[in-house]
Amino acid sequence: MNGARVEFRGLRRRFGSTVALDGLDLTVEPGELIALLGPSGCGKTTALRCLAGFEQPDEGEVLVDGADITRVPANRRDAGMVFQSYSLFPNLNARDNVSFGMRVRKAPTAKRHARAQELLELVGLPSVGERYPHQLSGGQQQRVALARALALEPRVLLLDEPLSALDAKVRVTLREEIRRLQLSLGITTIFVTHDQEEALSMADRVAVLRDGRLEQVADPATLYDRPATPFVAEFVGAMNHLTGLVSGDRVTVLGQTLPVEGRAPDTAQVDVLVRPEAVLVTPVDASGAEGDGIVMVSSFRGSTARLRVHLGDGTEVLADVPGHDSARFAPGTAVRVGLVERPVLVSARSETGAATAVPEPDVV
Ligand code: ATP
Repeated sequence: MNGARVEFRGLRRRFGSTVALDGLDLTVEPGELIALLGPSGCGKTTALRCLAGFEQPDEGEVLVDGADITRVPANRRDAGMVFQSYSLFPNLNARDNVSFGMRVRKAPTAKRHARAQELLELVGLPSVGERYPHQLSGGQQQRVALARALALEPRVLLLDEPLSALDAKVRVTLREEIRRLQLSLGITTIFVTHDQEEALSMADRVAVLRDGRLEQVADPATLYDRPATPFVAEFVGAMNHLTGLVSGDRVTVLGQTLPVEGRAPDTAQVDVLVRPEAVLVTPVDASGAEGDGIVMVSSFRGSTARLRVHLGDGTEVLADVPGHDSARFAPGTAVRVGLVERPVLVSARSETGAATAVPEPDVV
């Protein structure tokens, strides 16, 4: 198998007064795994359905390897799809589910069965061929669905929230396996999710959609470290908004002066966007040194704990500390608060004090 190049060009789709896609432009490179990430209703599934042929756009085109397939019927498109809900045929065993498409294409039985077995082995289920869907766990059913989607050797694999109905542990295992399989097959894959962790951990690039349009597409590290807009900054990971004063290419925030990432806005007062892991907190010891704030809430998350710290000026800051250290930051603890010494993203404040667009970084 080798992956196709997929292009969405100016895709628009309305349902009555609802605009599901509002001019979506996105190119997926051959062999790439791209995650479509965004809040509920932003058009992720509609985009996928336009590519699969289950939905017709009102305007725009879908191209696969340069060929316009916008009007090609679904059954003549070269795409395999896995859905959120278990979509296996309940009356067929796993092997027959996997080989269903081959049966429709009239492949000989022995060949079909051999291929189905090969695919079940590929997805880590060598011995479930005779079992019916109700005899399989949720994770196993999704593996079978994946094998079925791969059976006709599609050049594009479409995954619509395939893991969202599974429990957390199975979800993590399966996402790693899907990624490993996708890399080894080199199949172009579009993965719809509203789970940012899933998107960041699996994808070569993540496309953030908002109101039917592309807000930003970038590799996970860039998206996280250098979100192009406040919407992306908010949607991908937690973000603190602190008040800062810009002077030249530096900004003073929480008593520290740090370089501004990208171009600094013209206004003096800005929102400084800081991730919780870039906030440094130290408990004030018995020496009597004054603290900057008080820990209000501490949520233990295993490897880290997230603190909500109330600062003297009424601002709240989220800060991550190592999980094994969390006992030192019980609610009520007075702490000193600082920031990691590194360039920070700033966002100009409008007259009302609301944040506006973060300037594009100079270098991408
Ligand atoms: P979710 O994460 O909730 O699945 P999504 O980003 O995949 O959301 P879509 O399913 O693409 O969003 O839907 C985009 C918008 O279009 C939504 O407001 C949805 O209600 C609407 N929509 C989608 N399909 C239809 C339809 N067949 N009829 C009417 N409205 C629709």
